[in-house]
Amino acid sequence: MANSLIVSAKTLQSRDGLSMVKAEMNWDLSQLVENTEQTAIQKKLEVMVTEAERIREKYHSKIHALDAKGLLNLLETKDAYVLRFEGVEMYCRLMYSADSTSDLAKQLNDAVRRASMKVDQSLAFVDIELGGLLADKPSLVKDPVLTEYKHYLERILRRVPHMLSETEERVIITKDKNGINAWEMLQSDWLSTRTFDIQIEGKTKTLPYGEIIGLYQSPDRDLRKRANQTVYKDLGKDNIIWASAIRAVCEDHVEICTLRKYPTPMTQSLIANDVDQQTIDSLMTTIQKSVSVYQRYLKLKAKLMRLKKLANYDLVAPLPSGPEKSYAWKESRIEVVGAYRQFDEEMGSWVDEMFERRHIDGETRKGKTSGAFCSSWMAGKSAYILQSFNGRIGNVYTQAHELGHAVHAYQRSKAGQKPSNFPVGSCIAETGSIFGELLLTERLLSKAKTREEKQAILTTLLDEFGMAAFQVSARVFFEQSMYDSIKQGKFLDGETVARLWVAARDKVYGDSVDWLDVMKWEWTMKVHYYIANYRFYNYPYVFAQLFVFALYRLYKEQGKSFIPKLKTLLAAGATKSPRELASELGFDITKGTFWEKGIAQAQEFMVMLEKTL
Ligand SMILES: [Zn+2]
Repeated sequence: MANSLIVSAKTLQSRDGLSMVKAEMNWDLSQLVENTEQTAIQKKLEVMVTEAERIREKYHSKIHALDAKGLLNLLETKDAYVLRFEGVEMYCRLMYSADSTSDLAKQLNDAVRRASMKVDQSLAFVDIELGGLLADKPSLVKDPVLTEYKHYLERILRRVPHMLSETEERVIITKDKNGINAWEMLQSDWLSTRTFDIQIEGKTKTLPYGEIIGLYQSPDRDLRKRANQTVYKDLGKDNIIWASAIRAVCEDHVEICTLRKYPTPMTQSLIANDVDQQTIDSLMTTIQKSVSVYQRYLKLKAKLMRLKKLANYDLVAPLPSGPEKSYAWKESRIEVVGAYRQFDEEMGSWVDEMFERRHIDGETRKGKTSGAFCSSWMAGKSAYILQSFNGRIGNVYTQAHELGHAVHAYQRSKAGQKPSNFPVGSCIAETGSIFGELLLTERLLSKAKTREEKQAILTTLLDEFGMAAFQVSARVFFEQSMYDSIKQGKFLDGETVARLWVAARDKVYGDSVDWLDVMKWEWTMKVHYYIANYRFYNYPYVFAQLFVFALYRLYKEQGKSFIPKLKTLLAAGATKSPRELASELGFDITKGTFWEKGIAQAQEFMVMLEKTL
């Protein structure tokens, strides 16, 4: 039962014999800084600000005169600066994401936000002046001295037509702090501090958001239904807050698009993700053409659940016939490390190191950010992961997923990628993680003894695939429809946004699922719609899902010889565009035929599942 799992995770705190497990499930952030004293942290943040000012003094108004060597010096100075203060920034932000109710975490998070804003303001000139320099001397991009930064400079050149003057950029940073950034923070803080009352085994329990969503995957159908009903009914009550936040962030984006001369609301994200419109159009068209494949899976799942039709609370639910297997933290570690080790010994050792050095926060607690993430730690050649681990098979998959991000970080560190080349656009950023899920599937399937176990594994994988490729596509259609509505002069109040969400959702699901009425409020809790200056968060996940399923097909065809190719792709960081990376593997991602390969791989898993019937 989901409930007993949650309770057991809680009691770990009080049982002596298990206190070791609790420690293992809490990350050790102290490795990020030399000194964890609050005053030392704050001092370091102050130095971070003054050092940025020093870079400003040295280079402001001088970048236009730099030659290739001078430019190399600037880029290396900037990279060294990032590495020096990365740890302290992560320390403050990660501590807050693990417990936003802690006073210390609140203070440090506030301090890091203020310091980063000052740094951004001091260094805003670099990209602007660099843009100006490259606009004047585009040949610098190809200068052999700057080989390591070639694609980095190409990407800046692409942003040049949309840059504003330094004064304007500084004003934007300043007004965003208490504008869209504050709306984003309100949505996230409001959500993570909500509690929900729900009846479990005759008793009323009050659960934080991060815990009650664990019930969505409970084997008890009625409990799943009540959990969904409770959460979305309560979230809907605050629809004025959510709608105000989403409206402010979207309308601000529309204004910014005009100011920056972006032809469409998606352009900024296309540039950030290093992809082009043709590729994304081809991807989304493939999805629209393939909704029947997803709907076929949903019907298959209904059959496995002995239902006429799925309800929304069955979408990611375990099968009723499935074994009630719950995973202890240690077991999860064995499976996930083993999955990576079977593919590649080195990757397995990196994953194991993540556990060994306590870089994963798995405990559930109030005030902890919902969902899961992985933060690369460049200076430490490692990463940190946050997740809420309740022992479900889905949590094991999340762990394999986030550790795939960590593997990606290790691979880039090993290749010696500079900070400028380290952050990968979201389309490629999910390659290691989704590939890891497929490796976990392979391992679990090979160990499965019964057809019920196989069904549980394949439905977990295909549920995830369906969510990432199709449900997430609904979010892309939804976001697009909000911008279309704003353009038509519509006011986005809660009910209007809800109608747009339902329309986008139905485009994907047709009539294959029964939705609770309150599910119209599903958009309220999706942090992605509220992220300031980061619009269209979602399509890269659709991209990644089909991209990796297609890569996996290649692995199955080529066997071991594929492994170094994947490692090369992961090691490349941002030195090549997704289009280039794919073409090195023989694919053209502007063509629908490529994306259909990913769909075909999913269909193959569906056939495996059908065979278990
Ligand atoms: Zn991910």
